[in-house]
Amino acid sequence: MPLYSGFDLGGTHLKYGLIDEGGRIVFDARVKSPVKIGELIHLLETIWQDIKKREKGDIRAVGFGFPGIFNLEEQKIIQSPNYPELDNFALTPALSRFIEVPFLINNDANMAAFGEFKCGAGQGVQSMVFLTIGTGVGSGIILDGKLWLGKCGFAGELGHATVNPDGERCNCGSKGCLETEVSAPKIVKNYNALRKKSKEITAEEVFQRAKKGDKAALQAFSLAGFYLGVGLSIAINLLNPEKILLGGAVMEAGDFLLSPALEEVLKRSYKASFKCCRIEKASLGNKAGLIGAALWAKEQLSQI
Ligand SMILES: [Zn+2]
Repeated sequence: MPLYSGFDLGGTHLKYGLIDEGGRIVFDARVKSPVKIGELIHLLETIWQDIKKREKGDIRAVGFGFPGIFNLEEQKIIQSPNYPELDNFALTPALSRFIEVPFLINNDANMAAFGEFKCGAGQGVQSMVFLTIGTGVGSGIILDGKLWLGKCGFAGELGHATVNPDGERCNCGSKGCLETEVSAPKIVKNYNALRKKSKEITAEEVFQRAKKGDKAALQAFSLAGFYLGVGLSIAINLLNPEKILLGGAVMEAGDFLLSPALEEVLKRSYKASFKCCRIEKASLGNKAGLIGAALWAKEQLSQI
């Protein structure tokens, strides 16, 4: 049985696994992401050797989803706002030292978008915008039934569209990006600013407090939701997509974030365009990236 391996590097965890031809997971696991690039490459090598030992089947290709903008021509991550050790690192030579089968690299959110498109909530659509909201905001775009990479590979960075011109400095170099306004750290910042305290707390705890009716917690989500709505209306007016899929840990907050977002989308996008776009939750959870990366490798291999 032909199998495909996928790796998805996030700020906190490296997720990996094997899938079959239909995108079904044969096995998957995760480990903490190392901070240093040398440790990361060493870890990838160890995992790869383990996968081969564990699975005697025919692993045809490997897909990698890395955070940051990936240059198609140079085959490297040019700039990774949340994993700067990847910046300009020569990934292909390092990986080809130990991976004997064809492998492909791309941006992590593009891979997750591709996973949702192929075997998640995006199946069957021709156009879609995928957003994952966690410690950062990743996104990927499907247009005319294909992953849209742009001229050099940098497309789909809705997370770094400006939604608040006076907002905070973003790791990408700009300010007031969708990422700086709606990601988990910002929800915590909103909450602390509103309750005028700076005690350490997680976005998950802010969510729990919102559920109990904590006014500052509800407002923290509502403010982030406002900016999410601004971002989504840009996507709707620009692309008139069939679907927008929202995933990532912050989306667990559900209507606390979504209601204010939709209120804003209604005000800011063409109603006709809004009406023909379905906004839904992504369905593959944190496995979208590794499934998508493996399927991307499979699809690209079949086109060679
Ligand atoms: Zn940014």
